[in-house]
Amino acid sequence: MKWRNTYISDFIALIFPELCQACNQNLVQGEKLICTACTYDLPYTNFHLHKENVVARQFWGRIDVSMVYVLLYFSKGGKVQNLMHRFKYRNAPLIGNKLGSIAGAQLLQRKPADHIDMIVPVPLHPKKLRSRGYNQSAQFAQGLSGPMNIPVDMDNLVRVKHTDTQTKKSRFSRYENMQEVFTIRYPEKFKGKHILLVDDIITTGSTLEACGIELLKIEGVKVSLAAIAYAE
Ligand SMILES: [Zn+2]
Repeated sequence: MKWRNTYISDFIALIFPELCQACNQNLVQGEKLICTACTYDLPYTNFHLHKENVVARQFWGRIDVSMVYVLLYFSKGGKVQNLMHRFKYRNAPLIGNKLGSIAGAQLLQRKPADHIDMIVPVPLHPKKLRSRGYNQSAQFAQGLSGPMNIPVDMDNLVRVKHTDTQTKKSRFSRYENMQEVFTIRYPEKFKGKHILLVDDIITTGSTLEACGIELLKIEGVKVSLAAIAYAE
């Protein structure tokens, strides 16, 4: 008798069915990570159609950005929290790629659709990258890159300072804390480029702001921002 991989994987699926990472229901054949119902039902912001959205307004007067886009609204106890928690803590990097490809398809329909040259993820400190195994922002960036057909640059923007956890700090002390955290190794590589800077979750926006400030020091650079979720 000849074993086929499909028999084995069907058998494994019977005992350990793959679950939707958002709603915990069983996935059916052809579904990956997120079920079809959730893919339709997630709390999308549709910011690609609203240039002056609530998160864009958060950056007014802080940094000069061309576009601010977020895929999903984050709410406690909701599907997006399930997704983000698993993405962060359960070694599920492909959740980021999946959400990135959904976001990339939306961004192709954005208005106005100005040209973007490069996608740059917010970097992790090398120490943190080693312990976590992957950078969530980089996974999201790779997902975006497919449908948008824009390259990802992961080496040029680097994190030089390891910051403390920021959850309990005020916006001002977070800003202070973010000073000189990021640097750009070869500024000439970004000269004159429109860069889509991406992160996983936007809360106060202080991380994106700190990276954006560094990028905007380079001659002719334009910056747009994208994230998976927005948590108020
Ligand atoms: Zn689901």
